Amino acid sequence: MKITKDTIVTLTFRATNARGQVLDDGKTPRAYLHGGYGNTLPGIEKALEGQEAGHAATLVLAPEDAFGERDESLATTIPKRDFPAGVKVGGQLQGTNEQGQQQAFTVMKIKGDTVLLDGNHPLAGQTLQVALKVLEVKPASAEEVAHGHAHGAHGHHH
Ligand SMILES: [Zn+2]
Repeated sequence: MKITKDTIVTLTFRATNARGQVLDDGKTPRAYLHGGYGNTLPGIEKALEGQEAGHAATLVLAPEDAFGERDESLATTIPKRDFPAGVKVGGQLQGTNEQGQQQAFTVMKIKGDTVLLDGNHPLAGQTLQVALKVLEVKPASAEEVAHGHAHGAHGHHH
């Protein structure tokens, strides 16, 4: 069957960034609910629409089709005295952004009395290369559509 809205797609994908860093080795199959549920990258959904099991492709995904462009307003600094103890460079802390929403910030650098934080996804602004293979396509159950994600061995467990 073809990949259309409300199908469960099981696939493997090997993702690398522009520096050749391997982000996902593609050894573990994953299942996602197709049709704009935000289960996978927008560029993967676009490329797979209408395809069938056995389809293989290598995609180059611009940031807008992957983890989005960087938003420099999410790069911020806080005084070191406001910094929770025990958090190190490379670690994450929860904060609130300008819209008042919860946001995870990565600790980028500690410089004197100032801590540099970045609320962007670590892969924001990066172009990714994704080699993918579709293993299986099947209709989603009513429960999967209601939950907005795939269940089963390679999907969401709960
Ligand atoms: Zn569920």
